[in-house]
Amino acid sequence: MRIDAITIFPDYFAPMQLSLLGKAQGQGILEINIHDLRSFTTDNHHTVDDTPYGGGAGMVMLPEVWGLAIDSVIADEATLIVLTPAGTRFTQEMAYELTNAKQLIFACGRYEGIDDRVRQHYSADQYSARGIKVLEVSIGDYVLGGGEVASMVMIEAITRLLPGVLGNPESLVEESHMSEGYLEYPNFTKPQSWRDLSVPEILLSGNHAQIAKWRATQAELRAKKNL
Ligand code: SAM
Repeated sequence: MRIDAITIFPDYFAPMQLSLLGKAQGQGILEINIHDLRSFTTDNHHTVDDTPYGGGAGMVMLPEVWGLAIDSVIADEATLIVLTPAGTRFTQEMAYELTNAKQLIFACGRYEGIDDRVRQHYSADQYSARGIKVLEVSIGDYVLGGGEVASMVMIEAITRLLPGVLGNPESLVEESHMSEGYLEYPNFTKPQSWRDLSVPEILLSGNHAQIAKWRATQAELRAKKNL
């Protein structure tokens, strides 16, 4: 999978070189390219924003520079993700769907966001005929300062589902959110007793059927508690 993130703060993405993501890039499973939006500006001040038509507080990101940046990376069958708190809520189900994408392009907004004509432009027939999709996505009902952290949340959630990224693919089985409302049971490791707290006896029994039953009950209790 190819990932392109466009941002005015490329340094935000340094953690993408660490851990599983760093390893997956080294193995060629994944290619992550970070692009500095300001390198697509054409004025001496490297301007990326201007005042909003209609008035109001804050600045809006210029469509021209965004168009140049996206044009430089977009390929047939790409999915362009415009991060916005007003978008469709990101879920594990969406993460699974997006593992099928050939290329994901993350447009990281700042200020009041990106001029809406960018979304409109890449949603037009000339792009859908090339298999290009545009999604406006929110990672939750709160407002961040920019789309960088939101992109990284999505990139991590999507790419850990790609074959070969996780050391043990079994970790994806029985995981929270693997199906609607499912939450994983609590986990324990050594020592058996820690600060007067003991591991539930059943987990030490070696009785796999009973352990599976206990875990299923715990998962249900968690799901009910979180309703
Ligand atoms: N004026 C926008 C509004 O009220 O919807 C908020 C803009 S926010 C300060 C700046 C940028 O942060 C957005 O363009 C978006 O890229 C990103 N952002 C903020 N909250 C987000 C969220 N919950 N999910 C995804 N992106 C978010």
